[in-house]
Amino acid sequence: MKKAILFSGLLTVTISVYADVGSHWGYSGDVGPKNWAALSADNFACSGKNQSPINLTGFIEADLEPIKFDYLQGANEIINNGHTIQLNYTKGSSIEVDKQIFNLLQVHFHAPSENHINGQSYPLEAHFVHANEGGDLAVVAVMYQKGIPNQGLKVELDKTHRKTIRSDASPNKTLKQIWSVMPTKSGEKYELTEMINLKAILPKNTDHYRFNGSLTTPPCSEGVRWLVMKDAVTVSTKQIDGFSNVLHESNNRPLQAINSRFVLE
Ligand SMILES: [Zn+2]
Repeated sequence: MKKAILFSGLLTVTISVYADVGSHWGYSGDVGPKNWAALSADNFACSGKNQSPINLTGFIEADLEPIKFDYLQGANEIINNGHTIQLNYTKGSSIEVDKQIFNLLQVHFHAPSENHINGQSYPLEAHFVHANEGGDLAVVAVMYQKGIPNQGLKVELDKTHRKTIRSDASPNKTLKQIWSVMPTKSGEKYELTEMINLKAILPKNTDHYRFNGSLTTPPCSEGVRWLVMKDAVTVSTKQIDGFSNVLHESNNRPLQAINSRFVLE
């Protein structure tokens, strides 16, 4: 393992280089989503009836309790595991759902989004993964959309060439902070010593949809509480591209059949 100290503007990080541990499954070819269940006996759930992601639609009115977010600033490391960029958390941040505390374990990203809302895909989705004392999982999903043209865009006129030059819509500051220390190679992991304010990558309004699903990566374990934020967070096109350029391929599992499940709102 190599270690180095790197000063990157806002964050001081320690770099560690590990062997790639996640290369036995992927998003295309023989190890792609269609074959996940067949790749290993451990992945039997991948062919289950309550799988994620889904197209959230046909909502059922329910009195969903607001999620109580208790997020502390800070993450202890950021890793490129070959499938996504992931921030790992030490104990201390949590949400309260169903009168139970679910501790935040990690936050990671998918581009394009895995879940769809009313048939709509988004360019980026974050998954905030939590577990309660019994090991039950709860995932908060947040959609990110590109800045809308002419809202936060700077339009300039080049008098010589009569061209309109547009700058990008405003970037999200916290996402910028995370992307600035994003390990670019599979297996790379940095220790983080500075604070990351996760609340800034959640929408202000945390009204959500809820359904029963699974992990979207092998072993696709079911019994996961999915809490999908109704409001998307606006980020710049550059930030969307910045993530995709590091991963080199789309890391979204295709939509799964909803079967006999309901989506509550
Ligand atoms: Zn995910």
